[in-house]
Parts: sequence; structure tokens; C-alpha cells
Amino acid sequence: MTFRLFNTLTRQVEAFEPLQAGKVSLYTCGPTVYNYAHIGNFRTFLFEDLLRRWLEASGYDVFHVMNLTDVDDKTIAGASAAGQPLRQYVLRYIEAFHEDRGYLRIKDASVYPRATDFIPAMIRLVEALLAKGVAYKGEDGSVYFAIRKFPAYGRLSRLDTRELKAGASERVANDEYTKDDVRDFAIWKAARPEDEKVGAAWDAPFGRGRPGWHLECSAMALELIGQHFGTDVLDIHAGGVDLIFPHHEDEIAQSCAVTGKDLFARYWAHGEFLNIRGEKMSKRFGNITTPRDLREDGVDAGAIRLLMFQTHYRQQLDLTDEGLAAAQKASTRLGEFQNRLMASKSGTDSPRLAQAAERLRKDVTEALDEDLNAPRAVAAMFTFMSDGNAALDAGEKPGPAAVSAWAMAEEILGVASQKRSMIVEAQPGSGGITPVTTAPVVTPGETPPSDPAEAEEWARRWATARAQYKSARNYAEADRVRALLGQHGFQVRDSRDGSIEVVRVAAPKV
Ligand SMILES: [Zn+2]
Repeated sequence: MTFRLFNTLTRQVEAFEPLQAGKVSLYTCGPTVYNYAHIGNFRTFLFEDLLRRWLEASGYDVFHVMNLTDVDDKTIAGASAAGQPLRQYVLRYIEAFHEDRGYLRIKDASVYPRATDFIPAMIRLVEALLAKGVAYKGEDGSVYFAIRKFPAYGRLSRLDTRELKAGASERVANDEYTKDDVRDFAIWKAARPEDEKVGAAWDAPFGRGRPGWHLECSAMALELIGQHFGTDVLDIHAGGVDLIFPHHEDEIAQSCAVTGKDLFARYWAHGEFLNIRGEKMSKRFGNITTPRDLREDGVDAGAIRLLMFQTHYRQQLDLTDEGLAAAQKASTRLGEFQNRLMASKSGTDSPRLAQAAERLRKDVTEALDEDLNAPRAVAAMFTFMSDGNAALDAGEKPGPAAVSAWAMAEEILGVASQKRSMIVEAQPGSGGITPVTTAPVVTPGETPPSDPAEAEEWARRWATARAQYKSARNYAEADRVRALLGQHGFQVRDSRDGSIEVVRVAAPKV
């Protein structure tokens, strides 16, 4: 079996083969850093993270480029409103993006090129397009791409001429008259006073101005794969479905017109939309949700990844409160199972666990090889959890096979809650729990220390006290302790082998 991926260009699932054996160039359109990226943007970034991780797990050396769009209409408007230079204005949003990415356990790309660091490459690309006669200077001083000079235009989006015109005119400003054809798009925009004010204008042989958004991606991609692979064709270009037209169509036109190649990327991979409670996320609906909102609500990153991966990336996903709550519960269960598995690790696997481990590996591999079928891969993790819990309940021990198969799946999917749980050993007579009546009594106002580690120690002490009350058959006091722990985000669970597990179920209050 080899990895197969749906290619938007051919509308088919195809066997993946890179241009150079063992190496993959992957270009993903990154955030426009004028604001916090929302959860819909991050659904795309998570799909790309899965793609990247699966390519690496399959043995490929992946060179992953994710650009940061730091010059466009939105960043200029933001900088202007804030009264700051563009380069400075975007910094906090670049930082926020990396913070959110870290929270969602998204792997670092190989490079995060900022558009404004690649202005010379963009100017060279415009010059080349002008020299080839596929671009022209409009009366307004901007440079436009002449779509009629590029017959393959529309191949990716498969839109006919009429649709292309409608789509293009929706997006252009009042300066349409300066273009030869309504479909033509600006690759270089003549400098306006508001651009100058925030430092978003550069000198160029064809006139002072700034790059168009589509041109930025073409220039950065060609420049970076040229440096790293000595080629001008990408293996995979990915993004959200909303980028197919016009962004990716325009990237193809600019790139192929200058390289003379038939393809700009051999595989085009697109992730579907995320809706919020049945509505498209938009400013108009006031339903924009960001990862930082979810983090502040104490939602675990594993739960968000789980929720995203339980729907195939090519299907629309509806984010609801119920869905999120269910994912949180399921992710917590996966995290607890993981803790239990690691805590009872031994030198050899029981036959049942060895068999379950083999199935997990096989199922995850087959699922992800078939166009990143994450829902099936996640289902395999749940099956392993349920078999694993049954085996552990029966006193069986996991060995290297079980532990490494789980770690392999979790490394790629990252869906288990990372909230820690503690095991309070309560073996009678081994210095553990003894039936005493001198355990601390719950008094009103009892609260855990604010330091998370000290709070865990506090929870462990109370869990021990509860066990002591239970041994002394003082169930009323044992219940009061359980309630106290619950109130502060800890859950106590008694295992059949006599040990007590204390699980942090809510994020620590910092
Ligand atoms: Zn792009």
C-alpha cells in the first residue's frame, strides 16, 4: 500500500509519488496576519498538519513552507487604523498565530516566509511576466495578469468563462476600467498614499507599489523550492477550498506562465469549510471563534483535534457546543487510557495486547494511506482503548508493542487529552491506605493552592483521605471529599486492583 491523495486538479484519489525519491515539497497558504486566525482557518492548518505528519511517518523528508501574508489590503488597513508601520503592526498577530499553533500541537513548518521579506523575488516575477507579454501595465499604474494569454486558466477550478467573470468582478474594486478584461487580476498594485503611510510600498522598474496577494505565494514558493530542490514544480500545494478560486487558479497562471511548465503543483489538496452551529463563520453572524476562545474555556487541544479528525477533511464540519463537549469527554478518556497504559508498561505484551497493537498499526496505516481517512484512524484508537482497558482490567500488562503502536497513532493524530492524572497507590498493608479516623475533615472554604503542581499534591492528599474514610466505612465523609475534589476539577476513580486514580478533568486555574 502506498499513500493515496485526492487531487483537486484531476478530481481523483491518486497514488502519491514525489518528484524526487524520498523528498516532498509542501506549500500551504498561511494566515493573513491582520487579526487572530479563527478556528475555520485552523481546521485547514490541522488537516495540513495531519498531511505533513503522515508523509513523515511514511518515511518522506518533508520541506514544508507556510507563508505569512503580512502585506495585503487587510494588514494595510489594520496598520493604518493602529497608526503603526505595517511590519510592526503584524508582529503581535504572527506571535499569536504561533501561540495558537503551539496550543493545537501543530508541528513547525520548515520555514515561515513573510511576504515583505521576498519583495525582490516578487519584483523579478512581475518583470518576467511583463517580458513574456502575459502581464501589462494598466492606466492606474498597477500591473495586471492578462488571462486571455494563458489558455489553461480555469483548469483547477473548472469554472467556465461566465462564472470566472462573475467571480472576478465580485472581488475587484472600482478600478475595473483600467483592465483589458474584467477577469484580469492585479499582480502589482500602484502605491496609494495610505500604503506609503504604513511603509507598504516599494520601488520597482514598472512603478512604485506593492505585490498582489496571489503573486506573493507564487514568488515565495518558486524562490524556496528553487533553493531547496532546484526545481520549479511543487509536489503538494494545500489550502482551504475557498482558495481554489481565484487564489490558487491565479497562482497557477502566474507560476506556469513564467516557468513554461504544465504544472505548478503536482497535487492540489483542499480542506473543506468549518461552520459554526450550522452557519458559515463570518463577522456578519458574529460567530467567529478562535483557538484562544476555546483555550480560555478550558478546552483541551486533544479535544479540538479529535473533533476535527472525526470528520474527513473533504467534508464540511459543523462545530456545535454538544460536539465539542462530546469530543472533550472522549479526548479525556483517551488521555486517561494513555496514562494507564504507560503506568502499567512491562517488558512483554500479553497476547491479547500484542494482537490489539498489531491491529491498531494496520488500521491506522490503511486509513491514512487512503486519502487521510482520519475518522477511521481515530476509530481504530477507540477500539484499541476498549480492548486495552479490558485487558488491563483483567490484570494483563502492556509491553513494547502496545506502547509503541499507541504512541505511533497518537504522534500522528494527537487526539488524547494531555491533562495529567495521578495514581494514588492504595494497597492495604503496604504503607498505603490504612483505616484510620484521623484523616483531615472537609471544612468550608477548603481550596487547592493556586500553583498547579501544588494543587495536584493537594488533590492526592485528599484522595488518600477519602480512601482512608472508605476503609473506615465513613462513607459520608468520603463523599464530602469526593465532592470537594470535583468542585476543584479533580475526579477520583477506584480501580478494581485497589488503586485510586485522581484525574484532573478541568484545566488548572492559573
Ligand atoms: Zn497562497
